[in-house]
Amino acid sequence: MKIAIASGKGGTGKSTVAANLAWALARSRDVVLVDCDVEEPNLHLFFPGPAVDVPVTTPVPEIDPARCTFCGECGKFCRFGALAVLKDRVLVFPHLCHSCGGCVLVCPQGAVREVPRTVGRVACSRPLPRLTLISGVLNEGEVQAPAVIRAAKVLAEGHPLTLYDASPGIACPVIETLEGSDVCVLVTESTPFGLHDLRLAAEVAERVGIPAGVVINRSDGEDAATVAFCRERGLPILMTIPFSREIAAVQNRGGLISRDLPGWEEQFTDLFDEIVRNAGVRA
Ligand code: SF4
Ligand code: SF4
Repeated sequence: MKIAIASGKGGTGKSTVAANLAWALARSRDVVLVDCDVEEPNLHLFFPGPAVDVPVTTPVPEIDPARCTFCGECGKFCRFGALAVLKDRVLVFPHLCHSCGGCVLVCPQGAVREVPRTVGRVACSRPLPRLTLISGVLNEGEVQAPAVIRAAKVLAEGHPLTLYDASPGIACPVIETLEGSDVCVLVTESTPFGLHDLRLAAEVAERVGIPAGVVINRSDGEDAATVAFCRERGLPILMTIPFSREIAAVQNRGGLISRDLPGWEEQFTDLFDEIVRNAGVRA
């Protein structure tokens, strides 16, 4: 079973929910937690430990000057501005390349070949006996977040229970994370901004075609608008985490409430039961 944990905006506590859920479940079963927030991965802060790095490469073009006639076809085709054809040479800007392979196909001289370029890495660790952490890390200045997410998901394949922590927002990296998931947990907070972004995130889950449920985090008890929205859209509320100084204190020191506060391991185990019920698949 693959569970994606997402949110329409940053700062809702999405990664905290993912980490707490992973810790609670890893007490009794094998869990793979995948950090798909590759521009700012942070799950390793909850689960420190030695990791093995696997580089992630993507293909970028290399021009053969002996064959190139500077016809300009490749430059016209590339809509990312990664190629500039001058009178006597072709400039390649690898940072802008999205590895679509189009320039190889359109070149009439067969002057373009693809060479691998490292854009990030995937770090694998085993912080707990039954928890594997796989973190995608995009190199600074790179644009190919989906490639690193794909690589991280491939490494997690074949395991019975996988949690994907998506990046915040609703852009391509989130879609890449949600693809192939059985169910999505949308983490929100009870503010007008939170509700606005929950609407967007719910639409993305709907378009990808996976069932979704909602976790309300840092609830101050004023959840009526969020509850009404969820009811109207048929989104079950899977869990409500209240705002409390005790919880904030644990989280501020990088702790996990499922591990450090009594009763919360059970609450996160119950959350998993709710997710499974919502997904309609066997865990
Ligand atoms: S399409 Fe091929 S031949 Fe034309 S400029 Fe590009 S690399 Fe050179
Ligand atoms: S592979 Fe695609 S994105 Fe990259 S340079 Fe060629 S056409 Fe542009």
